[in-house]
Amino acid sequence: MKITDVSPFILHLPLTADSIADSTHRITRWGVVGARIATSAGLVGFGFTGTHAHAASDRLIAACIRDCYGPLLVDEDAQDRTRLWMKLARQPALQWVGRAGVTQLALAAVDVALWDLSAKAAGLPLWKFLGGATSETIEAYNTDVGWLSIPEPELVAGAQRAVERDGFRALKLKVGHDDPLVDLRRLEAVRRAIGPQVRIAIDGNGKWDLPTCLSFVRKAAAFDIFWFEEPLWYDDVGSHRALAKQSPIPIALGEQLYALDAFRAFVAAGAVHYVQPDVTRLGGVTEYIEVAHLARAFRLPVAPHAGDMSQAHVHLAYWHPSTVLLEYIPWIKDHFREPANVRDGAFLRPQQPGASTTPLDDSLERFSVSID
Ligand code: MG
Repeated sequence: MKITDVSPFILHLPLTADSIADSTHRITRWGVVGARIATSAGLVGFGFTGTHAHAASDRLIAACIRDCYGPLLVDEDAQDRTRLWMKLARQPALQWVGRAGVTQLALAAVDVALWDLSAKAAGLPLWKFLGGATSETIEAYNTDVGWLSIPEPELVAGAQRAVERDGFRALKLKVGHDDPLVDLRRLEAVRRAIGPQVRIAIDGNGKWDLPTCLSFVRKAAAFDIFWFEEPLWYDDVGSHRALAKQSPIPIALGEQLYALDAFRAFVAAGAVHYVQPDVTRLGGVTEYIEVAHLARAFRLPVAPHAGDMSQAHVHLAYWHPSTVLLEYIPWIKDHFREPANVRDGAFLRPQQPGASTTPLDDSLERFSVSID
């Protein structure tokens, strides 16, 4: 199955609100920057990374896919995924400028497309191609109800609706106000409204420092918090280790880590309890698997971060035995042939061949952003 063409695409897709914010970002669209890989067999594979829909930087990723990786892939066998990953990730000139950021996001899109192709060629959904499901169900946690930009009354109402109407048994709330007492008040209100049975995770998006986090976790523990995600600056192993040692709330992180080596540093230091790899930021499925196995070797649970809104992650979650929860944000699913859907708080297991990364033709037509 020879690769005949590698073409990038950019979609800017609407959210469920006009805009949302966490402690460090505000966005109005979700960016899907992807690779379309055509083959001599007639099969076409799709993979993508997730962005904040900033057209100029999305075009850098698209250019990297088209101009840097495309020529290295054409005429290669699409099923040589590991060899091709090494060829792209260790290409000396690209490695000199990459290993993180734009080149890694582009690599993620290409690698996911190659896995999509291999699974399609086998006629299997990716989870089956990888070795079959190890869980009967994958529980979803709802992040879309908990943005920092949602005022407290709507936050409480949305959390109640997610639990009572939609059947979620796990939610994630953003924290990170300048005054942490505001976050404690919001947590208390939600916990009181939804009762003790529902799991609540919190996410600081790296805003606070260690003293703020130490003080916060001691107070927030009263609301039975499942994990505290990205409490501190993303790369700061030492502060996360100090917090993990003292915090009554477990620490989760990984969405901003670009490579196996970064995960190894946190895991080996005892600085993380829930490991959160993301195929859209790591070098795709190939490197995600290495991180998931690393977590397993240390008996740490895996809860993927969903830069792809779980389109490909749902396959990895059903397959990898360390997975405990998967993130649900319903922004982009209806733009794909097989949406990552949730029913009664659990992800449906995909049935179509591939990685669920093939966009609808109509969405490609309506939401594409020019790559030049
Ligand atoms: Mg997060």
